Amino acid sequence: MAVPKRRTSKTRKNKRRASAYTLNRSNYVECPNCHEPKLPHRVCPNCGEYKGQAIIDAE
Ligand SMILES: [Zn+2]
Repeated sequence: MAVPKRRTSKTRKNKRRASAYTLNRSNYVECPNCHEPKLPHRVCPNCGEYKGQAIIDAE
C-alpha cells in the first residue's frame, strides 16, 4: 500500500483548507438600494433592483 513519503507541512495543510473554505463560503454584498445582503452580480431578492434599474416589480 502506498504511504506518504513526507509528512504534509502545516503550511501546505492550511493552504489546502483555506482554498476549500474560499470555495464553500457564500459571498454577500450590501444592496445599494435597500441595504439588504444579496449575492453579487444578482438582482436583489428584496427590492428587485440591479445596477439602478428595477428588474422585478417591488412588492
Ligand atoms: Zn435591494
